[in-house]
Amino acid sequence: MATESIGAIAVLIREFSKLPGIGPKTAERLTHHLLAAERQTVLALADALRAIKENVHPCGQCYNLTEGELCSLCADPRRDASVICVVEQPRDLAALERAGSYRGLYHVLHGRLAPLDNIGPEQLTIDGLVRRVQKGGVQEIIMATNPTLEGDGTALFLANVLAPTGVRITRLARGLPSGSVLEFANNQMLADALEGRRTF
Ligand SMILES: [Zn+2]
Repeated sequence: MATESIGAIAVLIREFSKLPGIGPKTAERLTHHLLAAERQTVLALADALRAIKENVHPCGQCYNLTEGELCSLCADPRRDASVICVVEQPRDLAALERAGSYRGLYHVLHGRLAPLDNIGPEQLTIDGLVRRVQKGGVQEIIMATNPTLEGDGTALFLANVLAPTGVRITRLARGLPSGSVLEFANNQMLADALEGRRTF
């Protein structure tokens, strides 16, 4: 095994370099920082890394990441369960929550349809969304997939899948510059896009 033939320091540098935004130089700096740090500090980091994989899983209802059976949003009785906002990733949900104006629930697809990358409907949480709508009580689905070719394609696909349920389907207003990604939009832009949503 390659990991056994190279030393622990080289392994950590290599693992850090796999992270987004971290080049070989930064990976090396982080590794030497940890080598010099207190044992307790480094083990706390190791525990935190382990915990996100062992304790965090998708919410049983909306597929947001959580440590409980339901996420804190689904479990909150003050949220309006008649509206579901569909997002691509948990980080998009976080961006909309930061905007602070939305009081409904969410559904996290964990991706978008991307035929060129072989990502089809079965890789997303579409079945779970359809089941939620079929259970009743949902009056509106807000498509908040990103305003990109793939995000728009995903919204269109979902709208067709959900059409037989008769639920009202809306799309975020185009306050968002085309191609921008939800997680990088500012709070006011997101609040405006939610406010100005229109029937799909
Ligand atoms: Zn949830």
